[in-house]
Amino acid sequence: MDNDNAWLADNWAQIRRRVDSACHEAGRDPAEVAILPVSKTFGPDLIRAGVALGMRRFGENKVQEIRDKFAPLEDCDVDWVMIGHLQTNKAKDVARLASEVQSLDRLELAQALDRRLQHEGRAIDVLVQVKTSAEPSKYGLPPEQLAGFLSALRGCDTLRVRGLMTLAIHSTETEEVRGCFRLLRELRDQSVLQGHDVQGLSMGMSGDFPLAIAEGATEVRIGTAIFGKRAYPDSYYWPEAKV
Ligand SMILES: *Cc1c(COP(=O)(O)O)cnc(C)c1O
Repeated sequence: MDNDNAWLADNWAQIRRRVDSACHEAGRDPAEVAILPVSKTFGPDLIRAGVALGMRRFGENKVQEIRDKFAPLEDCDVDWVMIGHLQTNKAKDVARLASEVQSLDRLELAQALDRRLQHEGRAIDVLVQVKTSAEPSKYGLPPEQLAGFLSALRGCDTLRVRGLMTLAIHSTETEEVRGCFRLLRELRDQSVLQGHDVQGLSMGMSGDFPLAIAEGATEVRIGTAIFGKRAYPDSYYWPEAKV
């Protein structure tokens, strides 16, 4: 790989070390915690450099970005993971291009995806996004609707439900953030007891992943700590978020 991207190799090695040490602190095996690189706003060249470092799955927040990057990177065999709010009318593109959706939060969307996936002859992994804080900017299914939703998803043959996903409250209060992750873990444990095979917990980002790992994350979604600061504020992705 060329030297221009040496910083990316450094960031990648460093985040793996930080995730590993958070695992050790939590008494967990680092092999249990995957890192999902979040490549939103960054272009095909940088993603290609990531592929050369061993990245293969990339999280994206907007369907349009997956559409734009899909063809230029087709030779890289990348798995595109949709992690952003998804409008039902975009189900067709997602069914065609994504290998996983972590932002499944309503039945109408699940049914639209299922119909499109059947048409494509594909099945994908999905996580159910749960709203674990009262922040208006956060999407996700209300916790009290989870049990019914998971049961209803049994009717969608093309959706392999693997676990739960959340975004914690944006706060400097550690206990508030940790409480969001704890709630997701408790909901996962209850769901497993109810017979749903939903072991996965996608939670934690650049700023809060050690707390998520302490509460049982099986995957952390890391953008900034790998690719650097984005040119757009988060309000571009989370429309109601305050900048
Ligand atoms: C952007 C984003 C991330 C990564 O955020 P960083 O703070 O840059 O690590 C994780 N999850 C979702 C849903 C995102 O939109």
